[in-house]
Amino acid sequence: SRRPLIAGNWKMFHGGRKGVELAQECATFAGGLPGVDIVVAPPFTALAAVASVLEGSPVGLAAQNVYPKDEGAFTGEISPPMLKECGCSWVIVGHSERREHFGERNTFVAEKVAATLQAGLLPIVCVGESLAQRQANETLLIVKQQVDAFLDILAQSKAAVAIAYEPVWAIGTGKVAGPAEAEEVHAAIRTWLSTRDEGLAARTRILYGGSVKPDNAAALLACPNVDGALVGGASLDAGSFSAIARAA
Ligand code: 13P
Repeated sequence: SRRPLIAGNWKMFHGGRKGVELAQECATFAGGLPGVDIVVAPPFTALAAVASVLEGSPVGLAAQNVYPKDEGAFTGEISPPMLKECGCSWVIVGHSERREHFGERNTFVAEKVAATLQAGLLPIVCVGESLAQRQANETLLIVKQQVDAFLDILAQSKAAVAIAYEPVWAIGTGKVAGPAEAEEVHAAIRTWLSTRDEGLAARTRILYGGSVKPDNAAALLACPNVDGALVGGASLDAGSFSAIARAA
């Protein structure tokens, strides 16, 4: 019932001309996949150029991060209205790499979700446990704490947001969560959403992320609560990114 959403997080790659070329290739293949929402998240330096090649195409544009103020003396930061004006409709918020390397905590992630929605942008909010947390059987506890931090903010909005479940141990490691492991967490997230607001649970797309590749995408995307994918490495190649989108 929910349209699949396949998002490519380019991370710190393709910030210039290569990003424009990749976006062009994505616009081409997306035209042949009318049943799937395709989104790309280039680095900030490529956003404006990618926005102009995506104009008129079905591919949506996302930023990888945002600062939760509209403007001000915040050297080096980018605001939600700036992203909106640049042509973005989405923002990745709370990616585990930002939590790990830049000290982003649940409360700050929640501020970013609020600011993103306030500007009329849709967040793709990322959650997920570390390997140590999984081994300690804390996966659902940790993910619930992460979701609880922004749940009220989502419930106050009617926006069709996305949540990405990205187990940290599966990111960039080639170790993918099995479909059953992913579905268990996705179903739990859906239940927490529906306890708060059934409409929110029905419309929110819950994406899986972490070593999604053309050969494992179909099995993950077949799970009832997996509504799409947040793809890192494999989104840097239009051939593999399109193969993942075709599996949706
Ligand atoms: P990989 O697909 O490279 O594991 O990255 C996943 C991710 O972090 C997407 O946001």
